[in-house]
Amino acid sequence: MLSQRVGIGFDIHRTKKGLAILLGGVRIPCDFALEGHSDADVLLHAVTDALLGAAGLGDIGEMFPDDDPANLGCDSAEMLTEAYQLVKKNHWRISNLDCTIIAESPRLGHHKLDIRGRIAELLKVSSDRVNIKAKTAEKLGAVGRNEAIAAQCIVLLEQKPEPRPKLLEMAQSETISVELHELE
Ligand SMILES: [Zn+2]
Repeated sequence: MLSQRVGIGFDIHRTKKGLAILLGGVRIPCDFALEGHSDADVLLHAVTDALLGAAGLGDIGEMFPDDDPANLGCDSAEMLTEAYQLVKKNHWRISNLDCTIIAESPRLGHHKLDIRGRIAELLKVSSDRVNIKAKTAEKLGAVGRNEAIAAQCIVLLEQKPEPRPKLLEMAQSETISVELHELE
């Protein structure tokens, strides 16, 4: 039987002066940037956390501590692919993932396809397994005042059962045939 696990990820980054943000590995020009120890890709951080969570492997902060100078300014796409390697080593594969970006600005409607394609490319899955939604915070709270951008991700992982050793299968099929014979 196919095993499945679900994981959830959330992240939020403050805005700062700048000219572009990274969302899902896609550079989007706008009138601010995002603050962060790494490249501040809030969406890829949420996806990474969802994957690690589903596989029971902790979280992004444990894997890439923000007090480690080695992680300063690091590429979130690399962090995601490294985390997914670990997930795959544990025999899990992505069934699908669904994300929501919450940003008052910039408008993200026409970037959603690019983001979807980039995440699918990073994880080497078909893009129909990745869904990106974007919404505003209706001008409420820090996100609504453009002081931050947040992202959520939910992921479903699946694991195929290990193939059964041939001898065991033969022994079991013999047992079944004996049992059937006895029933006759
Ligand atoms: Zn983050």
